Amino acid sequence: MKYDYILMRYGEIALKGRNRKKFIHRLHENVLGKLKEFPAIKIKSDRDRMYILLNGENPEPIITKCKNIFGIQSISLAIKVENDEIQIKQAALHALTEAIGAKTFKITAKRINKKFPIGSQEMNQILGGHLLSNTDGYTVDVHYPDVEINVETREDATYITSNKILGAGGLPVGTAGKTLLLLSGGIDSPVAGYMTMKRGVQLEIIHFHSPPFTNDRAKQKVFDLAEQLTSFGGKIKIHMVPFTNLQQRIYSEIPHGYSMTVMRRVMMKISEAVAKKEKILSLTTGESLGQVASQTMESMNAINDVTNYPILRPLIAMDKEEIITVSQKINTYDISIRPYEDCCTIFVPSSPKTKPRKEKVLQFESAMDFTEDLKNTINQIEVVEITKASKEDDEFSDLL
Ligand code: ATP
Ligand code: MG
Repeated sequence: MKYDYILMRYGEIALKGRNRKKFIHRLHENVLGKLKEFPAIKIKSDRDRMYILLNGENPEPIITKCKNIFGIQSISLAIKVENDEIQIKQAALHALTEAIGAKTFKITAKRINKKFPIGSQEMNQILGGHLLSNTDGYTVDVHYPDVEINVETREDATYITSNKILGAGGLPVGTAGKTLLLLSGGIDSPVAGYMTMKRGVQLEIIHFHSPPFTNDRAKQKVFDLAEQLTSFGGKIKIHMVPFTNLQQRIYSEIPHGYSMTVMRRVMMKISEAVAKKEKILSLTTGESLGQVASQTMESMNAINDVTNYPILRPLIAMDKEEIITVSQKINTYDISIRPYEDCCTIFVPSSPKTKPRKEKVLQFESAMDFTEDLKNTINQIEVVEITKASKEDDEFSDLL
């Protein structure tokens, strides 16, 4: 007898009422997509569980991959047996002897199939007694057991599991629509992308670059960040915006104290245009209140003024330290700190206004006519599709 299944418990999906089917279907698709390289396995989704029949595959790399999939609360190895007392006893014994280092145990039986003649409490006692009399050196500890053996008797079968591995939580990516993430080469925006994905949102990315002031390595950095994010949810489309012309104009025609504000406003306008074209209903940024000049209340107000599109700012109330911790866990940090500058750092004036006045912004902008340049820039956007994280997923394994 051996572990032949992986059992995955859904997270918040359970709360989704009538949408539940849709959520489960999406999660099923996401898991299938992630486990393509294991052709022998079979996946089955129930109302509250997903089962992966291993068919001889090694469970470890599969579990490692599943730990990155949003919508899964916990994962356990499982033995599936018939609803038969003798088989259940054998499986429980196997689960106990396989639990390395365990000296104390607890049985938690759950009878979901009420037609099964043995009740939960009775099953606890039967199995506890069976394990004690067929092993040496184990004792029962109902409060702090080294291993808890769960025995679930369902309609079709009984599943015996031990040790719950924490899943990624959140909602399945693709169940909450799409957002257009403004991704720089910095630390914050990839974390913002990860956090929106965790709530079930699929990403497209927009990046502004200014060749030849920004080089190919800066561009590669953005591709690598996007690639890391794909390990949480499939392929990602990136819109690369050639920003050189507009940035140079802003830098030379707008008084320096205001050039950053105007540049951000233009970025927002272009992002909104791309989102609309792609039928994406929101933008996402890595802004965090008070972190830099563009993220004061006054700046955000002046920048936000060009759009009434919803802007998601998942990091708005986080400290830099907290953001860094997440970026390290999701393996974007080391990419983000590569020293290649992005367009915004190159063209940032030495002292941007932290409290820009809106009338001034409008006044300076009205002296410039962007219309033609905006149109040209949007027409020249290059689209790149990033499909797969090249790094092994197990680098994320302690994240979740
Ligand atoms: P990050 O670490 O994400 O770069 P930051 O703290 O450096 O953020 P800013 O440089 O002010 O802050 O950028 C604020 C937000 O604007 C970023 O989080 C990102 O969403 C967006 N942004 C900045 N530069 C770019 C760019 N070149 N392309 C796309 N989006 C950008
Ligand atoms: Mg930045």
